[in-house]
Amino acid sequence: MALIVEKYGGTSVGSIERINAVADVVAQSVRNGDKMVIVVSAMSGETNRLIDLAKAISSRPMQREMDVLVSTGEQVTIALLAMALQEIGVPARSYTGFQVAIQTDSTHGKARIVNIESEHVLADLNTGSVVIIAGFQGVSSENNITTLGRGGSDTTAVAMAAALQADECRIFTDVDGVYTADPRVVEDARRLDRITFEEMLELSGAGAKVMQIRSVEFARKYNVPIRVLSSFRKGPGTLITNEEQPMEKPMISGITSAEDEAKVTVRGVPDRPGIAYSILGPISDAEIIVDMIVQNIGIDGLTDLTFTVHQEDLPKSMELLTPVVEGLGAEAIVGDTNLAKISAVGVGMRSHAGIATTMFHALSEKGINIQMISTSEIKISVTIDKEYAELAVRTLHKAFNLESIDTD
Ligand code: ADP
Ligand code: ASP
Ligand code: MG
Repeated sequence: MALIVEKYGGTSVGSIERINAVADVVAQSVRNGDKMVIVVSAMSGETNRLIDLAKAISSRPMQREMDVLVSTGEQVTIALLAMALQEIGVPARSYTGFQVAIQTDSTHGKARIVNIESEHVLADLNTGSVVIIAGFQGVSSENNITTLGRGGSDTTAVAMAAALQADECRIFTDVDGVYTADPRVVEDARRLDRITFEEMLELSGAGAKVMQIRSVEFARKYNVPIRVLSSFRKGPGTLITNEEQPMEKPMISGITSAEDEAKVTVRGVPDRPGIAYSILGPISDAEIIVDMIVQNIGIDGLTDLTFTVHQEDLPKSMELLTPVVEGLGAEAIVGDTNLAKISAVGVGMRSHAGIATTMFHALSEKGINIQMISTSEIKISVTIDKEYAELAVRTLHKAFNLESIDTD
């Protein structure tokens, strides 16, 4: 008898038929004797619909109220799935994040889980009930409802698996695993049989939304292996784990594109010590995550500093920096959302030279201009004009021959 945590994403619970189909799969596991904890997302499109409702009322709604609003999507699906299970004779109980309790910090909209009280869950499991938990939500120490950021149900599932010391954590979605590129963009992308936490972290951070990055951080920290599976068809999926593969690694495991970043350029800043700190300090104090940073070589005592943030954080970043830039006597501050970040990720990069060159050459052959470049040990990212994002992903997938790599 195993304790299994399964998460079903928005498309997997997107209609009554889909919810009934999930209930049937869960019932099968219960009949096999497994203890089941099920984390669900809101029905597909629901979270966006709720956000649009808020935007129709206010251009900058209070984050506290946003969380009260967007957390309702998951409350609907937990109740419906519990009913669907009860309807076929399987005992089930649903819980919101607050009820569990999934305790988080107070950063509304992107809260971090700090603790999970799992007594209710364990008590229910011991009475033979399926426990259904609302993904994406928690409760702060001030008793406010919080949410964990877009895609946060993945993190709820992995955190529950860690807290319950589950035997398995399965993420059911609308693709049958992690691919060498988004299969919606690259037709001949290949499913990877396994991938390390480290690579998945980089892929998620670089825009592969199949797993939320925080969920992978959690999985690595608590060593929770994850299997990504399709809720529409059977198959082995992709195992995300710590284990190193014995065989030689493919140089590149995946190509990703992130189109939700924005670029802030501070032009004509006096080139002297402390400038980067004066500009980026207020940004990090506001809990805004900065991704790429480039500072040009100074000319005539002046330089430009450019960095990227999430698009949602652009208005706040501009607002914070306007007085700073004036104080520094810089020429201008410019925000730009017309960019895509394209990345190549692979642990095999450590032992191969020339990857950046292959990447730059392939992009130049298509006439795609590179704006910024950043590298880590196992990733190379460039930013380009958003218009060319899909072309760039397909071009690089081909340049690294990913359509024919050995994936197991
Ligand atoms: P869910 O609603 O189940 O959480 P998501 O939409 O968040 O599903 O994530 C699944 C989607 O991620 C897929 O439909 C696919 O288009 C996209 N995706 C992006 N990159 C990848 C990749 N490398 N491998 C698999 N899917 C990817
Ligand atoms: N419903 C939330 C979202 O759309 C959380 C999730 O699906 O994981 O982002
Ligand atoms: Mg998701």
